[in-house]
Amino acid sequence: MFKIRNYINGELTEPQAGRFIDNYNPAGGEVYSLIPDSDVQDVENAVHAAQEAFPAWSKTTVEERHDVLSKIARLIKENLEKLAQAESIDNGKPVWLARSVDIPRATSNFEFFANAITQFASQSHETNQTAINYTLRRPLGVVGCISPWNLPLYLFTWKIAPALAAGNTVVAKPSEITPMTAYLLSEICIEAGLPKGVLNIVHGYGHTAGSAIVAHPMVKAISFTGGTQTGARIASVAAPMFKKLSLELGGKNPNIIFADCDYRQALETTIRSSFANQGQICLCGSRIFIEKPIYEKFKADLVQAVQGMKVGHPAKDDTRIGALVSKQHLEKVESYIGLAREEGGTVLCGGNRVAVDGYEKGYYLEPAVIEGLPNTCRTNQEEIFGPVVTLMPFESDEEVLGYANGVRYGLSCTLWTQNLTRAMRFATELEAGIVWVNTWLFRDLRTPFGGMKDSGVGREGGFEALQFFTEAKNVCIKY
Ligand code: NDP
Repeated sequence: MFKIRNYINGELTEPQAGRFIDNYNPAGGEVYSLIPDSDVQDVENAVHAAQEAFPAWSKTTVEERHDVLSKIARLIKENLEKLAQAESIDNGKPVWLARSVDIPRATSNFEFFANAITQFASQSHETNQTAINYTLRRPLGVVGCISPWNLPLYLFTWKIAPALAAGNTVVAKPSEITPMTAYLLSEICIEAGLPKGVLNIVHGYGHTAGSAIVAHPMVKAISFTGGTQTGARIASVAAPMFKKLSLELGGKNPNIIFADCDYRQALETTIRSSFANQGQICLCGSRIFIEKPIYEKFKADLVQAVQGMKVGHPAKDDTRIGALVSKQHLEKVESYIGLAREEGGTVLCGGNRVAVDGYEKGYYLEPAVIEGLPNTCRTNQEEIFGPVVTLMPFESDEEVLGYANGVRYGLSCTLWTQNLTRAMRFATELEAGIVWVNTWLFRDLRTPFGGMKDSGVGREGGFEALQFFTEAKNVCIKY
């Protein structure tokens, strides 16, 4: 069986202890490859390689870094089909989605930060014509990047690219549930001629390899995307060591639909924002608030459309909903559908397992739409992270603003209205790091990306990411 290997000091290596973890294909529920079960020693080797590579890498010119990162971007683009197939097999997402979104975005991440670093300017301040202050922005050293399973290569490269562009060396860990494209990226980095030790990829469990990266004293910063509970655990280790921390965590995002919206667009986008990637995107709108006058019609149209979404094998082009990422996650999502029923909700459609012909052991679930629950119940307060949405009617701006903000999370919000004054007022008052008006997941990589409240700390994207991965040093010269 194919064995994934770590990428340490420029070489593909087996874990020191020789232990491996089974890697499942969610579409068929079978083990199809093995993942290194790396431990503290592997992380130690990776951190030392990164520490040794840092002096030379941090002294390269921005043009040199631009060139090698651009080469990695080009190789990702050239390997689009191979990477898309691998992502789909590893994660269960439809291959057309990996081909059109995940892998192109990984290319863009490297292209974007290869260019952004050439434009990253430092500030200067003249003080009363007697002194000049200027700010140096220096790379931090060895940094740790830890990413989740939902958008594997997309989020992995979103961290690695700015870290490398800014002149840091990196020890990174993808989710052990979806390691394959990170492994293929290590092959690409070797082909691109990335100097050894500049990027090190250690595979394995979060509680072993992940926590060893976080706790390592030579690792100066942690950029983490994942669950809120894990984020809190990481912060409790990293904060007393005064590491820089960027935490992109969970969400329970509201999708607010006013009666004056562009109805067709709101409906079509809501189908996507609810169920894209099997609902396993931190930005999915899982609580849908619909203004009373259009509630019944929107509900009927949504349910009809959702019932028409084909749940099927990820390799098929007509599959709208592929497999959930793991058996454990499938069971978690199902348990929330059970909880919704216990809490008095009505499941309007979906929520049952699907046996796909020839792949009966795969982790397939019909997308579910639920109504009749208050905003305060657990179903509406906790992140489910699957193909499950709830519908709630509302009558006034004040009422829905209260609902939208009435959760511990604050990642993103989508708003559908033609009323500009209302849109601008909501954009100000919503407790969310990202507000979309009349659109969803419309991304510009220059914008700050991240959440408020329990959805995280810090922002990624554009110069925010380059600022995170550098230390500001002010120099004041009196004249
Ligand atoms: P987890 O928090 O379980 O894991 C994320 C990563 O952290 C994995 O690589 C995991 O390894 C690792 N990890 C786990 N425990 C530790 C630890 N103690 N120390 C260091 N690393 C650790 O999240 P999921 O992978 O389940 O991803 C889903 C979550 O990610 C959802 O909550 C979702 O909302 C959030 N997310 C947030 C986004 C955002 O931008 N705000 C975007 C996408 C997802 P292992 O796989 O072995 O557990």
